[in-house]
Order: sequence, then C-alpha cells, then structure tokens
Amino acid sequence: MNIATAIPEAVRTDDFRMLINGDLKGSNRLFEVYNPATNAVIAHAPEATRDDLDEAVAAAGIAFKSWSKLSWDERGAYIHRFTDVIEQRREELATMLTLEQGKPRHSFATREVDLAIHWLRGMADQRLHHEILEDNDEHVVEVQHTPLGVVGAITPWNFPVLLSLWKIAPCLVTGNTMVLKPSPYTPMCTLWFGTIAKDIFPKGVLNIVSGGNDLGQWMTEHPGISKISFTGSSATGKKVMASSAVNLKRITLELGGNDAAIVMPDADLDEVVPQLFGAAFGNSGQWCIAPKRIFIHSSNYRTFADKFVAFAKEKKVGDGMLPDTDLGPIQNKMQYAKLLNMFEDIREKGYNVLLGGCIDESLAGNFVPVTIVDNPPDDSRIVREEPFGPVVPLLQYDDFDEVVERANNTDYGLGGSVWGRDRAKAIEIARQLDTGTVWVNEIQVHGITLPLAGHKQSGMGVENGVEGLCDFTNTKTLMFRK
Ligand code: NAD
Repeated sequence: MNIATAIPEAVRTDDFRMLINGDLKGSNRLFEVYNPATNAVIAHAPEATRDDLDEAVAAAGIAFKSWSKLSWDERGAYIHRFTDVIEQRREELATMLTLEQGKPRHSFATREVDLAIHWLRGMADQRLHHEILEDNDEHVVEVQHTPLGVVGAITPWNFPVLLSLWKIAPCLVTGNTMVLKPSPYTPMCTLWFGTIAKDIFPKGVLNIVSGGNDLGQWMTEHPGISKISFTGSSATGKKVMASSAVNLKRITLELGGNDAAIVMPDADLDEVVPQLFGAAFGNSGQWCIAPKRIFIHSSNYRTFADKFVAFAKEKKVGDGMLPDTDLGPIQNKMQYAKLLNMFEDIREKGYNVLLGGCIDESLAGNFVPVTIVDNPPDDSRIVREEPFGPVVPLLQYDDFDEVVERANNTDYGLGGSVWGRDRAKAIEIARQLDTGTVWVNEIQVHGITLPLAGHKQSGMGVENGVEGLCDFTNTKTLMFRK
C-alpha cells in the first residue's frame, strides 16, 4: 500500500505544528512519526523547547482570567463549535488515527472518533451546581466548585483521539485552560486538533505541545500548572506524582490495569466468549481496562477454552487500512519489544499455548498474533504483569472464595467482570472485587456520567461523571451572615 496516498490531502504535511497562544508553531527540532503497520516514517512533529512550554503555560494563565469568568453555557458553546468541525472532518481524522496508531480504520478507528465526538458533546453539556448546605436564620453556607487554573494534560498512545478529548472537554467546561501533550508515538491527531482549536477558542485557552517524555516531566514540575491530568502507565504515574509535589499540584492519574474476568459454572459460554474476546483483544490488547486474566470454573474450563480458541482463529491481524483486518499492529517498537520478551518468557517456562505464541519478526510491521495461554501459574509474568498486547492467560479455579482471592491478588485495581446466569451470586462476587469498575454480564460499558476510577496502583482521582468534573475544580465553602 502506498502510505502517502492514504493520508488525506489536508493532513499530508511534514510540518505538524503546535498550538501556543493561538498561533501554530513549529520547532527547529523535529521527531519522526511511524506507521506501525509498515514502520515507514509518515510525518514529523515538532519537539517543544522549555521556552515553548513556558510560553504555552503563560498564555494559558492569561487566558484563564477571562475564560474562567464565562458562564458554563458560553464555554459549552465553544466546545460544541469545536466538535462540529471535528465531526465534519471525521473521515480524515479516522484515517490519520489508523495511520499513526494502527487500529483498523473501518472498525476501531471510526468507533473511537465517533465516541470521542459523542463525549465532547455530552461533556460540553455537563454542569456542576452550587450546593446550599445550610440556610437558617443566621447564615448561609454554599459549596462552590471553582476552576483550578492551568491544567497540564498528558496522554498515552493507545487511544490518542478519545483520551485527549476526554481531558479537553471537562477541563475547559469547568473553566480551566489547558496545555496538552500527546504521546510522542502518536502526536498527529492531537496536533491536528490544534489546527481546529486555533479558529474556535480564544487564544491561550487550549495549547498543544509535542515532544518526548522530558516534556511531560517539565510539565509536572512547572510552577504555572495547577493540576496534571495524566493517563499512562503506573510506573510513569509514580514519577508524575513525585514531581507534581513541587507546587502541590492536583493530580488525576489513570494508570494501568490487570483486570480479572470471572466465568461462573453456569455462564452461557456462547454469549460470553465473543464478548470477552472483543474486550480482551480489541485494539490488539492495548487497552487499560481490558480483561487480562480470564478465570474459568474447572467444570467448564475446557469447553470455554475450545470455544474461545475457535472464535479467536477467525480473527485476522494485519494492516489497519485493509478492510478485512480485525486487529492491527502493536503501536510502537518499544511495546513490541516488551511483547517479544514476554513471549520469550512463555516459551522458556514451557507454558501450554493454545493459539499463537510465535511472533514473526521478519514482518515489516509490529504484528503480534492472537495468543492464548493455557492455565499458567499465578506467579507467572503473563499473569502478574500487564502485557498490553494480544495475549491472554486462561486460568482455572474451583471455588468462588478462591477466585476472588486470586483476582484481587494484584497491585492493580482498574476493572473486572463476572459472568453467570445466577445474577445474585455474580453480583455478590462483583462486590468483592477491589477495582474501580466491575461489570456483571457486560463489559467495557462507559458513559459520560459514569465515574472511572482506579483503585490501588491503577490510579488516583476520577474521570467522567460528577466526580470527574469535580476533579477539575477546587471545593470552596462560602458562608455569609444574614
Ligand atoms: P507511558 O506512561 O509510558 O506514557 C504516557 C505519557 O506520559 C506519554 O505522553 C509520555 O510521553 C508521558 N511521560 C513519560 N514519562 C513521563 C514523565 N516522567 N513525566 C511526565 N510524563 C511522562 O504510558 P504509555 O506506554 O503511553 O501507555 C500505556 C499505559 O497507559 C498502559 O499501562 C495502560 O494501561 C495505561 N493506560 C491507562 C488508561 C486508564 O484510563 N487507566 C488508559 C489508557 C492507557
């Protein structure tokens, strides 16, 4: 496939630029962006200097003074106008997303773009109201939610469109201004948002800068930034937390996960298998809140395994631009190398592999086959670590107390799911899982009003819902005598 011709005319450019103080800005230093299906260079992105960051933070600080004084409706209207333009150009955006991220254009990329548009609109219409706690003869107590100031947002490479917009909308609607940094692996879509935002928002309200991990660290240390909204790995989350201490920044951390799915003896396997496959292998397993350990009761373990493998065999891994591709490549060489290492460990330890297990390194793209591991020990790396790729262990259990104990035996606490016809029992098990989200007989249902929070080392703070909006504000108690 000729990659250059696949890039829409409007984004065929070697000069993706940053948005700083209302102007599009390049840099003397550029970094390369690769298509993970071919590893060909498809674009160059500017590397921000410290001066660029200072300029962006200063502009956001100045813009905050007037932006925070607008009404919620006025700010929401700006976000709606921004969304209108993104929607008009959604095809272009979906193609760009596939080219930089790898996910299939006809399915996952289109869905991510459409979901992001839905999210922007829904978030633009969210409101936090002042609450009167006391109103008696003597005084009134009112709790208000006031914006924080300049928010620094840092995003990963697995959902570059959705996760950027998940931060932009609640941050701006609550009255903050923003400096946003995408992952250096996937800067294109986010920088493209800057070209749209330039003509919509007052200058300085939204600034988009690009660069490497050091730029992220400069943001966390920057005294002009009041809060960091971070999505990424738990290891980086700890660094963000440490360096944000410099001015006691507020932080929201959405981090890694190692979700358990628990399949009960009475589960309807024909219903469960496609859902669990989609959740575990969608986006080629590069999904924080995905089942990464599937526990199946010993009475139906073999039947489940056979059906799961049969379903998985039908799925095609390939270039996301091709219409028959179900699962795209791994987004970058760093993650691909981690998976090579994990596969090596599976081979060395001699675990039984029901499907896949061998990565063909001669391919140009970062392709990893769908891999299913048969009941490895709980202390194996494939069970304990977050592989972030299309490889999942099936694990056998005998009783419910045991499986709850094993499911909770992890430093992560992002999500989980329970599957069975006995709904009451399934809910009872779900209540015992120490994770921010638990589903029963459904999975990966998210909503604008549904809080998403990580327990344990999966995060801190909340995204979405009222709690998520509150995370972008200070709580202020206003009292006055009558
Ligand atoms: P990562 O932590 O390596 O990078 C995330 C972002 O942090 C990037 O923009 C990176 O440039 C920046 N960064 C790196 N070092 C930094 C530092 N010292 N200070 C500040 N910023 C720094 O994560 P990744 O590999 O891009 O993403 C994969 C991880 O993200 C997985 O662990 C996944 O589970 C997690 N994730 C979590 C959620 C969630 O909502 N919980 C969603 C998506 C991804």
